[in-house]
Amino acid sequence: MGRLDFTIDAEAEGSRARAARFRTRHNEVLTPTFMPVGTHAAVRSQRREDLLESGAQVLLANTYHLLLRPGVEIFEKFGGIHGFMNWPRSVLTDSGGFQIYSLPGSRTLCEEYAEFTSYVDNTRIRLSPERSIATQKAIGSDIMMVLDQCVPSTAPHSVARGAMELTHRWARRSLAARGDSAQALFGIVQGASYADLRTESAHAITDMPFDGYAIGGLAVGESSSQREDCTATVTELLPRERPRYLMGVGTTRDLLEAVHRGVDMFDCILPTSLARQGVAFTSLGRRDLRRAAYRGREGPLDPACGCYTCKTYSIAYLFHLQRVHESVGWQLLGLHNTHFYLQLMRSIRAHILAGTWLTFYHAQRGVLDARDSYGEPATHVTRAALRKLRLKRGRYEVIVREKIGYIRDTTSGEVMHAGSDPSEEARALYVDQSRLIERVQDGTGEPLVVWDVGMGAATNAMAAILAVEAAAGPGAGAAAPGPITRSLTLVSFEQDLDALELALDHLRLFKHLRHAAPRSLLTQQRWTNGGSMIDWRLLPGDFAVQKFEAPAPDIIFFDPFSYKADGALWTLAAFRELARLCAHRPVELFTYSGSTAIRSAMLAAGFYVAKGRGTGLKAETTIALSAAAAAPPCRHELLGAEWLAKWRRSDARAPFGSAADDTAAREAVSAHPQFRAGEETVG
Ligand SMILES: [Zn+2]
Repeated sequence: MGRLDFTIDAEAEGSRARAARFRTRHNEVLTPTFMPVGTHAAVRSQRREDLLESGAQVLLANTYHLLLRPGVEIFEKFGGIHGFMNWPRSVLTDSGGFQIYSLPGSRTLCEEYAEFTSYVDNTRIRLSPERSIATQKAIGSDIMMVLDQCVPSTAPHSVARGAMELTHRWARRSLAARGDSAQALFGIVQGASYADLRTESAHAITDMPFDGYAIGGLAVGESSSQREDCTATVTELLPRERPRYLMGVGTTRDLLEAVHRGVDMFDCILPTSLARQGVAFTSLGRRDLRRAAYRGREGPLDPACGCYTCKTYSIAYLFHLQRVHESVGWQLLGLHNTHFYLQLMRSIRAHILAGTWLTFYHAQRGVLDARDSYGEPATHVTRAALRKLRLKRGRYEVIVREKIGYIRDTTSGEVMHAGSDPSEEARALYVDQSRLIERVQDGTGEPLVVWDVGMGAATNAMAAILAVEAAAGPGAGAAAPGPITRSLTLVSFEQDLDALELALDHLRLFKHLRHAAPRSLLTQQRWTNGGSMIDWRLLPGDFAVQKFEAPAPDIIFFDPFSYKADGALWTLAAFRELARLCAHRPVELFTYSGSTAIRSAMLAAGFYVAKGRGTGLKAETTIALSAAAAAPPCRHELLGAEWLAKWRRSDARAPFGSAADDTAAREAVSAHPQFRAGEETVG
């Protein structure tokens, strides 16, 4: 029986698909089911009424993030997450295990616990299996998860084995910590993409009396066929009479494939995260609402959908909201996507019950992955007009100088890497100045984390990847790891992916993109090379928000549009927040700007500021250093008394983004410790 009273309603013929039900302390859950992700006790920009209306039965919340904010005492005060959110149906909490994987730069791991540096206040947070369960008890979720260790799908066998065995020991401790609580607890099968380890893990975990079993460690860099094989291997070994949960997966097509292989429960951030990029899942396939083909188009987003968005608005209006970056546009698309996922699961269940699953499965496989099947073919368009059309996408266009492509922002007129060959500039300013290659050869073992802020057409990111691959020598990767002793974790932040998509349509002009990585990044938000030497991830959306989701950086390539076009990222407040994240560790930030107002903002925020090398049109660029990075012997030439004297005469003394009457900000610049030695000599 277990705590969930799980019963099977029907099993499909010729497939492992099944329809079942279980009862939590809050409601009956019909499976297969999709659980919208509410990391911080809220599904991104969705109201609870809309989630109830769309038929969400279980929400997923994140133990680690909720432990940091709002903290256990708030849940205790409000009677758990149900009282706090006013959510009447079930909640499943993950354990914090995924953060052990996704925040490698800010945690250490030992047999007893993982220890993190809090992104909220820099304190140390210990997460042991016991603390994870105690936190989940306080949150009051209906289903708790054991603390586990997940590794990249490309991890070597020995590393994957170590993580799997730790996961088993932690599973036992979690079960003991749960005790006689009425909350259900699921075990997690690990083992990366190794069939032998997955089999061993399934046996070990199912030997323990959990209320359900999850497959963890997928959707972390493996191909979809690897994922499907692994799912099939594991589900075959799981007991028939317990729910099965595939964690963090995936697209609608992935869900269909996993149901076919016997999975009952899913969660994924894609419905809401892709909504922010203008992507909708529909009964006719995926639609990218930023495509010009949708301008002025009548009719709903999905004629087969009964959600509020589809009942109320035309596709032309939704296209317009994307175009003007109106946040209600993301909300409406997120609402539709969530509804579509839940509706798909209901259809799947109905077909399993009706005995028509296999027909439905085969018909949907092609449809769910189709791209923009509504896009009208371009007829009656001249070749010249078509060429011109292809050189534009969203707010960007391609301009060509001496057979090299540049991306221009049509709203501000700014050109990315305008001064010289963009790839050359990326190498000189970011890769060479940061001594990237030297640093991945320094043998410290920990991954080197590079933030790429303002990915644009991936010029800087690809310069880094190509440099590391070149340094690894011929046959880079699995065959010949070369002298690289430290893996590179590259995190790109970008709000608008049109620049990269546009450049990918013109590989002739953007040679640095002739590589498997950029397309993989766009479709899967991730690319890892064969030797697991490089792990490139995309965090789409606002850097201001997304930086908290990334592992702590060692190096930052700071290359957004200028403060004249894209001011928010360059303000004193933004640098202050960044400085707090970089406190207590050596971090070097490289940027093309040499502006006095920007350097003042960095200084007032607490960074040390050094001269960067000149490039193209600029005589000097800038390097910002955390205190630990600026400590002697500092490799960079810090701004000194001469700069300070010039600053005092300048009319751009106010740090960028500081208020006119903020004299404290100006004093913070003149009193900055980096000028102390200089002051004495100036006298
Ligand atoms: Zn809809």
